[in-house]
Amino acid sequence: MPSYTAPVKDMQFLMHEVLKISEADIPGYVDLDAGFTGAVLEEAAKVAEDILTPLNAPGDKEGCRLENGIVRTPEGFKAAFDTLREGGWMALDAPEEFGGQGLPYLMHTAVNETFVSANMAFNMYQGLTHGAVSAILAHGTDDQKARWLPKMVSCEWTGTMNLTEPHCGTDLGMMRTKADPQADGSYRITGQKIFISAGDHDLADNIVHLVLAKAPGGGEGTKGISLFIVPKVMVNDDGSLGARNAVSVGKIEEKMGIHANATCVMNYDGATGWLLGDLHKGMRAMFTMMNEARLGVGLQGYAVAEAPIRTLWPMPRTGCRAVR
Ligand SMILES: Cc1cc2nc3c(=O)[nH]c(=O)nc-3n(C[C@H](O)[C@H](O)[C@H](O)COP(=O)(O)OP(=O)(O)OC[C@H]3O[C@@H](n4cnc5c(N)ncnc54)[C@H](O)[C@@H]3O)c2cc1C
Repeated sequence: MPSYTAPVKDMQFLMHEVLKISEADIPGYVDLDAGFTGAVLEEAAKVAEDILTPLNAPGDKEGCRLENGIVRTPEGFKAAFDTLREGGWMALDAPEEFGGQGLPYLMHTAVNETFVSANMAFNMYQGLTHGAVSAILAHGTDDQKARWLPKMVSCEWTGTMNLTEPHCGTDLGMMRTKADPQADGSYRITGQKIFISAGDHDLADNIVHLVLAKAPGGGEGTKGISLFIVPKVMVNDDGSLGARNAVSVGKIEEKMGIHANATCVMNYDGATGWLLGDLHKGMRAMFTMMNEARLGVGLQGYAVAEAPIRTLWPMPRTGCRAVR
């Protein structure tokens, strides 16, 4: 089994000798002394080295599978996800009022660098949730924040980002998914999205999809697009889970690499959704999540590039032999 060693010393050196973060005039940084950041990073290193690394290669080999409409993640992922959730690792920088630890984004980034190096596919399940939380924080009503954020911050419910459709990726103005307004203020969402990271899985009780769709009266192109909160399972007024929403997985996309993260085709067949942010201003709201996803993809790039120099693989048993 490979062994990964997290770059705690390097991170500490950068944070305190180069950047001198605890002297920076940035909210929350004054508390980030070397003792504190070192303690957090040492604990994160244990999680990355002992829990996530051993699941990486076997998880990619096993991959995800679709069984009776539900995506099953590789063996060990659920237990590891529960362990990280219980340890509060997925809520480091979320606001305390929603159950987070209120630390600066820097700490989330540093910890995630080690988690991604250890197991990128695993970390994507919570990474997308982090972005969805940011979008709801920035654009949600007080009621929406109260309803969705506490469970998403804790990762009891995870989140997704739904832009891409079979005929449109970059050029989102061609989007066909539509949102029909209902008398009770909700919308019926109908359409198909593809390449949805963590679109479905068995790690959380609910999945909160943030879906771009066109509501009537918005005009052509990206101007007519709005953003909607569409849960996999409906949530009752008391916060308990209700019936399944009309959201289903069409298939798991076949792609090169990241097999342990389920990239899904998602079908919305008149699913119930609620507007997030302003009507016809969905691109603006989604960009809160997309901008975070861009930072996340950058982090994935260097964390994966760095992983080989921090990972030792056992030597093959055969070794060299003379051949005559
Ligand atoms: C592993 C993985 C995970 C993903 N996860 C998600 C996710 O969670 N949610 C999600 O919504 N999507 C996701 N995607 C999809 C991703 O966002 C799209 O691949 C991306 O938007 C590009 O779309 P496309 O692949 O259709 O390429 P295209 O849109 O076909 O683009 C191909 C090239 O054509 C150019 N191009 C396209 N249209 C025009 C035009 N009109 N004029 C000039 N040039 C043009 C583009 O700039 C690009 O260079 C994921 C993809 C992958 C591979």
